[in-house]
Amino acid sequence: MAQDDRDARPALSTRAALPFLACALLGFVVLLLPPSGESDGRLVEAGLLFAAIVVAAGLLPWGRWPPWTWAIPPIAYLAVIALLRDASGATTALAPLVSLPVLWLALHGGPRALAAAVVGTGLIFVVPLLVVGEPSYPAADWGRAVLWMAVAGLVGPGIQSVVRRLREREERLTALTQELTAIQHQWERFGEELPDTVVLVVDADLRYQQVSGAGALRHDLESWLGRTLAETSTPDNVAVLEPLYRGALEGRPGECEINSTTDGTPHQVTVVPFGFHGEPAALVVARDVGLAQRREMEARRSVEELRRLAERDPLTGLVNRRTFDEILEDHLAACADPGWTGPCGAVLVLDIDHFKRVNDALGHHVGDRLIVSVAQLLVTALRDTDVVARLGGDEFAVLLRDADAEVAVRVAQRVVDVVRRHTAGVPEITGAVTASVGVRLVTDATTSAHDLLVAADTAMYDAKRAGRDRFVNAS
Ligand code: GH3
Ligand code: MG
Repeated sequence: MAQDDRDARPALSTRAALPFLACALLGFVVLLLPPSGESDGRLVEAGLLFAAIVVAAGLLPWGRWPPWTWAIPPIAYLAVIALLRDASGATTALAPLVSLPVLWLALHGGPRALAAAVVGTGLIFVVPLLVVGEPSYPAADWGRAVLWMAVAGLVGPGIQSVVRRLREREERLTALTQELTAIQHQWERFGEELPDTVVLVVDADLRYQQVSGAGALRHDLESWLGRTLAETSTPDNVAVLEPLYRGALEGRPGECEINSTTDGTPHQVTVVPFGFHGEPAALVVARDVGLAQRREMEARRSVEELRRLAERDPLTGLVNRRTFDEILEDHLAACADPGWTGPCGAVLVLDIDHFKRVNDALGHHVGDRLIVSVAQLLVTALRDTDVVARLGGDEFAVLLRDADAEVAVRVAQRVVDVVRRHTAGVPEITGAVTASVGVRLVTDATTSAHDLLVAADTAMYDAKRAGRDRFVNAS
């Protein structure tokens, strides 16, 4: 039944049916030509039945019915032949038309459907003989029944077996093509997933026969296909590789390290004996040993770059508020340690006076340049051990790590003075630029970084209120 199922599947395809329909219609045309048939009524019946079969084949839901039912339209067509014969006065000229269902089912049906068509072929001759009999249907129709059944019984299965073999071959070919495509994809993926490795096959003439692996690098190597070692490598590499290739061809594996001819990167090469199309060959696996190191370096550089971006203010390159908080926390922790000797330093907060006026009068870009120049000024004016941060806008913070009260005040005054004197960095600024500074000495290392900054900030605002261009000590 499984065989039946598979063979019967395309049974009702309209395109496949067209040649058969054309032959059947020819039967009608023949009968309509002079001298025309004796029984027009039968001809109409035959035409109606034929039309009903064609319509039913096209409209009924055959796909939902068991495949053996698909043999019904071609076999029912035998009844059309019987009616046509009757309409034509039992002519034997229509006999070849009985082979149409047999041919159809030989091409598209299963063995059972074909057997039914063969029996139907016999019945076309036998039934009228038994029902109507002579003189319309002569006894010679027994012979015709046997003859057409014999023809159908021999030719049908023959065609069917050829069709089945062709179909099986086609299915095998499709399966093989799919398998081949899958292998090709795997091979390509293998190449992509081994970006640092090349696999080559070398024949007895030291000619490259296969190249795979190495991702992008492989495309360079594809030009090596069909070329010899001597044609593709530097003399230095040939001198090292040739004995290895020859050794592998004689069954001895080996390995070496060379600099790639293509891009000079160091490669570790392993050569092992291999069979290629039944001939001795060498399988060469070359791994770019520098790639992993280069990747690691790139990754480290990216991480460092990311950290720098996260820690620093992009405009001035100074550390940002978050990093300043961390540095201050660390400093306080170190200072709280009993081993710490000396003062715990001070925090300064500086804000440029009337900075908005610079922005408004000269533009944002000039304001930016002023911020950058003040940042540089602070870095230059302070010691390397001090930390200068941009808190945001025109506001800066400074950690003087080991200043005492006296030093903190002196530095605060110096900062106020250098900012006032500073105009050189920004040519557009002609008048004096001043700044207000708040100072908070670290008198207790257990104070939080946040509290120290708030205190210094409050002192800075006190300086603003007191007339700007000065510092206020909150300590
Ligand atoms: P005050 O003396 O009270 O500090 O007056 P001010 O005009 O300096 O006022 P404030 O410090 O509050 O204003 C800072 C201004 O800086 C506000 C904002 O428009 C501007 N600003 C903030 N960030 C930037 C920046 O990155 N570039 C520039 N050009 N301007 C900025
Ligand atoms: Mg300001």
